[in-house]
Amino acid sequence: MTGATPDVDVLVAGGGPVGLAVAIEARLAGLRAVVVEPRSTPIDKACGEGLMPGAVAALARLGVHPTGHLLTGIRYVSGDRVADHLFTGATGLGVRRTALHLALAMRAQELGVEVRSGKVDTIAQDAQSVTAAGVRANWLMACDGLHSSVRRQTGLDRPARNVHRRFGIRRHYRVPPWSDLVEVHWGRHVEAYVTPVADDVVGVAMLGPPNYDYDRSLAGFPALGRHLGAAPTLGPPRGAGPLLQRTRARTAGRVRLVGDASGYVDALTGEGVRVGLAQAAAAVRTLGPDVERSSAAYEKAWTAATRDYRLITSGLVMAAGSPLRRSIVPIATAAPGLYGGIVERLAR
Ligand SMILES: Cc1cc2nc3c(=O)[nH]c(=O)nc-3n(C[C@H](O)[C@H](O)[C@H](O)COP(=O)(O)OP(=O)(O)OC[C@H]3O[C@@H](n4cnc5c(N)ncnc54)[C@H](O)[C@@H]3O)c2cc1C
Repeated sequence: MTGATPDVDVLVAGGGPVGLAVAIEARLAGLRAVVVEPRSTPIDKACGEGLMPGAVAALARLGVHPTGHLLTGIRYVSGDRVADHLFTGATGLGVRRTALHLALAMRAQELGVEVRSGKVDTIAQDAQSVTAAGVRANWLMACDGLHSSVRRQTGLDRPARNVHRRFGIRRHYRVPPWSDLVEVHWGRHVEAYVTPVADDVVGVAMLGPPNYDYDRSLAGFPALGRHLGAAPTLGPPRGAGPLLQRTRARTAGRVRLVGDASGYVDALTGEGVRVGLAQAAAAVRTLGPDVERSSAAYEKAWTAATRDYRLITSGLVMAAGSPLRRSIVPIATAAPGLYGGIVERLAR
């Protein structure tokens, strides 16, 4: 293989939102891109489905305009206490994952991205190229999600020890949204994230410790239960976790980890897609002829793009797993400037 010309510039493992965004970025930069994805379009996934204003702007820059339900802010709820923050600038969008996937897939197709059905398993690298799934490329972008097999194979995994393992489950309900804000209902051990995603559909994603029971947890949120009433659920529930995934580094030779594959803190603050899109832009922007130099540039850009998310979300998850948990909504109510500042920081 050594010496042969690569088939493509960029091979993308995983056609989720970040993988498709990487492929679109690559095409916009004039590079040839192939995406390898085992699942068929449109792909669904456990997700709160709230696109923060920054994610909506990043998608628009790529020429991607999904349909959804306007989001005007974030509401924290605990019993009778309610803390609202309305976004100060542009709004966000509640978008079903299938709608987001279709919008990205259409744009990728329009730009000439080739999507192949398959899975990236073994990877071979030499000085000139990287080969996986039968494709020889200059670069492999690992966008294969939370449990990235590329991350494991390249030794970039960093086991997460002594932490509270958290899992997410999402369901859709056929009911008109009662609010344009994402509602986060705080229970004793579990939070429910309520996102309007269409004029007649609301998603409820629950986050909590291993083995929590979705229905029993929902019964612990009577105000939410009153809104949902006897609304029918749509489609099967989707689950994901454990959420915390750590990495030693984001690059190994010609391989780059992007999106959830590059490490994930938690869905508590709902900006996974925004951060993933920022990483996608950085991963392509920093490509260059010198592998070491461009890898260092990506590491630097990745660190900058994820800093707020890693620090603020880790801090909030730690507080949520401690006796401080019951003070989170009272603090948000009593200190709206602090609460709003944190939301704005993570939303842009
Ligand atoms: C419960 C929950 C709620 C969330 N809520 C929000 C929210 O409200 N807002 C928000 O912005 N983010 C939210 N997130 C985070 C968001 O879902 C992720 O950050 C986002 O999906 C990351 O996209 P990705 O493309 O990196 O990974 P994924 O969406 O997981 O896509 C990875 C893709 O790789 C494919 N794949 C896997 N293995 C291979 C392989 N070996 N070869 C080829 N392909 C492979 C998979 O089939 C999949 O399509 C939430 C997450 C969870 C779990």
